[in-house]
Amino acid sequence: EESSKNVAKLMKEFFSEEIYEILTTAGKLAEEMGYGAYLVGGSVRDLIMRRPSPDVDIVVEGDGIAFAQELSKKIDGKVIPHPRFATAKILKEIIRNGEKKSFYIDIATARTEYYESPAALPKVETSSIKKDLYRRDFTINALAVKLNSKNFGLLIDFFGGQRDIKDKKIRVLHNLSFVEDPTRAIRAIRFSEKLGFKISKHTENLIKLAVKMSIFEKLKGPRLYEELILLLKETQPHHSIKRLADYGLLKILHPSLEEKKLYSELARAYETVQAMELLFLKEKYRKELIYLMVMLWNLEDHERQEFLQKICVPENIKKEVIENIISAEKALQAFPSEESPVEIYTLLSSLNIEIIILMMVYAQEQQKKAISFYLTKLKEIKPLLRGEDLKTLGIPPGPIYKKIFDEILKEKLQGRLLSKEEEIEFAKNFGK
Ligand code: ATP
Repeated sequence: EESSKNVAKLMKEFFSEEIYEILTTAGKLAEEMGYGAYLVGGSVRDLIMRRPSPDVDIVVEGDGIAFAQELSKKIDGKVIPHPRFATAKILKEIIRNGEKKSFYIDIATARTEYYESPAALPKVETSSIKKDLYRRDFTINALAVKLNSKNFGLLIDFFGGQRDIKDKKIRVLHNLSFVEDPTRAIRAIRFSEKLGFKISKHTENLIKLAVKMSIFEKLKGPRLYEELILLLKETQPHHSIKRLADYGLLKILHPSLEEKKLYSELARAYETVQAMELLFLKEKYRKELIYLMVMLWNLEDHERQEFLQKICVPENIKKEVIENIISAEKALQAFPSEESPVEIYTLLSSLNIEIIILMMVYAQEQQKKAISFYLTKLKEIKPLLRGEDLKTLGIPPGPIYKKIFDEILKEKLQGRLLSKEEEIEFAKNFGK
């Protein structure tokens, strides 16, 4: 059911000028090199859905790395080849509204497979783009758009991806899909939650069957961690973790993950993160790690280790999340009951923002107020005076400087020393 729809107009309208230009350049180059080149994956799905897409993926019937090298010359980009996977990334920098932006174009080689045909017929090459698309996860992600200038914009739909986008359905391409790659079950939930699609009945049955067959017990490797992190990052975590549990997949991650409690805590964490985004936070933080820490919160030490081991969390992140949880627990215990601004500041200023947000999830009302007060007000307070100013006042440099700054900060935290003049006055009188 290959369609003959052409989406060139939609592409022109939908992609930025730079991307459209790159895609047409890729199409001309493909003609010159005698290759087929296709836009594939999430960017086609997003194009059909008219959603903004973060990345551009191209598959080439031919030498993908050579193609990437040529293309990057033409568009003035930088190639990063991965010969082991016959893929390459092009890093392209553009200037828009005076601001430098960069994005990646992923280029992969389609796998070409030959089949012996019966009797005297010559060897036939099955279309390698079809093979490539057949190895993908869901029909909605298995669409392609031809880029070659001759057919630029031709939408290629072997597996009914357009119909499933229209019907809002997540559907695998064949019955062995989850046996081939169990992490696809997590992806199914992610796309379902983030696009508002339903996992088709048949695909759902295949997930359940795979659970029954204990396919998921073998699930491991860094991709498990990556998919879990994307799930937490791109969806409402309390919804998607519940869906994992509904398929019997949560207890495979760790048998002690207690479901009911976890949903309400994740819901609280989600609300907290929303509030942070709405209110005040300019600082960058990784909300998905906060959700991961919430998943770990009620586990025993050894269970935390087992869980992190099971999902193959990179060592540095493992260390970080465990330490952050412990810091948050300690800080909540040490929270001053009679909070003075100075005490709140002293407790929180040495903690990173991810720890503080995690604390917020488990804080009592009074503590929550104090943390908000810190984040909205206290955090930004700093002495206006610099070392230079103290020198000008004739104070000889030395450890005294730090003392003066600390004392000025304390005063300011309590609402005093509102102007630079007052700080100068204070510094002059200091130690007199
Ligand atoms: P988004 O970037 O919006 O999350 P995406 O579809 O681009 O979605 P990626 O994880 O970047 O998601 O994967 C790119 C493409 O690679 C997918 O569209 C899909 O076709 C294919 N793909 C990724 N992971 C798998 C997998 N586990 N099994 C089969 N195909 C996959």
